[in-house]
Amino acid sequence: MTRSQAPMPENLRHQLRAGQPPERSVDCPYCRVAAHQPCIVRATGRRLTGGQLHPQRRSAWAELTACCPTCQVTPTVPCHEDGRARDSVHARRYAEAEGSAA
Ligand SMILES: [Zn+2]
Ligand SMILES: [Zn+2]
Repeated sequence: MTRSQAPMPENLRHQLRAGQPPERSVDCPYCRVAAHQPCIVRATGRRLTGGQLHPQRRSAWAELTACCPTCQVTPTVPCHEDGRARDSVHARRYAEAEGSAA
């Protein structure tokens, strides 16, 4: 008897908590907090509240969850321009990530 096992799709939308920005589902590359933790101000240790987070985290989230319509990369691949990796993602990638997270 053979049993076929369908591969489980990778799903990054696990355990999104109500009221949290979807960007919080990834680690923050700037202040280095773990997923689902609020960003902190590194100098003071103060937590950012009210949905504030570092733009680097937003960028990392878009990179992880969405394809980029501008430079045609797949999720997890950094945006690039003129053959060089960009520090942040293209604006349209944010829109793409927001669309897939909605
Ligand atoms: Zn942060
Ligand atoms: Zn791009």
